[in-house]
Amino acid sequence: MKTSIVTIGDELLLGQILDTNSQWIAKELHQLGVELVESVSVSDSKQAIVNSLDHALSQSDLVIITGGLGPTKDDITKHTLTSYFKDELELDVVVMNRIKAIFDKRNIPFSELNKNQAMLPKKAITLPNLLGTPSGMWFEKEGKIVISLPGVPYEMKGLMLGEVLPRLRKIGGFLYQEYQTYVLYGLGESSAADMLDDFEDILPDFIKLAYLPQPGRLTLRLTGKHQEKVFLQQTIATLGEKLLSVFKDYSIVKGTEDTVALVKKMLIAKQKTLAVAESCTGGAIASYITLESGVSSFFLGGVVAYHANLKRELLGVSDKIIEKHTVVSAEVAKAMARGIQQKTGANYAIATTGNAGPSTDNTDETLGVVYVSIAAENQVFVERFDFGQPREKVIEQAKNKALEMMLKEILKNQ
Ligand code: ATP
Repeated sequence: MKTSIVTIGDELLLGQILDTNSQWIAKELHQLGVELVESVSVSDSKQAIVNSLDHALSQSDLVIITGGLGPTKDDITKHTLTSYFKDELELDVVVMNRIKAIFDKRNIPFSELNKNQAMLPKKAITLPNLLGTPSGMWFEKEGKIVISLPGVPYEMKGLMLGEVLPRLRKIGGFLYQEYQTYVLYGLGESSAADMLDDFEDILPDFIKLAYLPQPGRLTLRLTGKHQEKVFLQQTIATLGEKLLSVFKDYSIVKGTEDTVALVKKMLIAKQKTLAVAESCTGGAIASYITLESGVSSFFLGGVVAYHANLKRELLGVSDKIIEKHTVVSAEVAKAMARGIQQKTGANYAIATTGNAGPSTDNTDETLGVVYVSIAAENQVFVERFDFGQPREKVIEQAKNKALEMMLKEILKNQ
């Protein structure tokens, strides 16, 4: 069933709020096996809603709309949908009594405006909202379904879980989609394809294998669509095991958190430890490593030595080095890596120092330059990167590069 999502609200278009509704709905639809073909946000205007509906219905069998149902906006979505489906409003006494009960409980007078929320289109199925006053509506026309839900996220979720998803499940016939990725290091696309020749021959029709090369690694993705969710999951898991066994002599890791997961796998296997000393990355590397569970068996921790004094005091970087080369330099990065390695007794250490921006303070280097140093057991090496701007990008890229360098170093000594 092809599906579109339309989220309504000027505040979405003004950037005042993030459209989390469509993200949440998209995940739920994916779980159910419903194919989402488009997701758009439109303004609180009749014309915009009509245009988006015309477009959505031209390509989808199901359209899920959120927002614009509150009394404050004069029920624009409800009125628009009612006229779109050539329907008319009538009082739903059950809904009115439920809204009234909410108001009585809160000791708030029940107004004509609130009564309007119990005026609902005759031909639509009313979806009772147990968490607020606007009801959900389910319209059907010429085999297509249009569902209107409130914009307030918890009300929308309550209606999706309590009403919409169970009804969609009953309609059934959806194709579940599942995928699993594997990241392979040290082997190019064509060599990997040669090794996967026999594996590709046994793939059933409903499973596809994609090759996604990136610098220094190759991501392999198994994707499948099937009516039976559990069968699909089991098939992908079995094929995944086979794929892993094809590359058993290479470095391959399941999932997308690839670099940290692989660093973890390798360090644990070698019973080696790691510590970090971060300046411009401000703890981003340590934070990234500890997002992965089970890292305590190799990750000792680290320091964020942002100010030169801390580089001196905590990491033993000498005044002479700082004065001669300034804090953003290869020498300081190496001294930081060696310093944290010695302080913690870790086998490996990562250190960063750079100009994340937007200013360069007292350094010789330009904006966006970062030095990443790796202290291995017998040597310390360093690389200079120029990540440009903005600041967030510099930090993100420095973090990724540092972990990639670390991984390369461990793989080198396999
Ligand atoms: P209400 O009765 O509160 O007016 P409504 O159905 O009219 O309900 P909106 O007025 O469109 O909903 O939105 C109410 C609030 O819900 C917004 O101010 C916003 O905080 C949140 N909201 C609306 N749409 C979204 C969305 N797509 N993603 C996340 N939050 C949203």
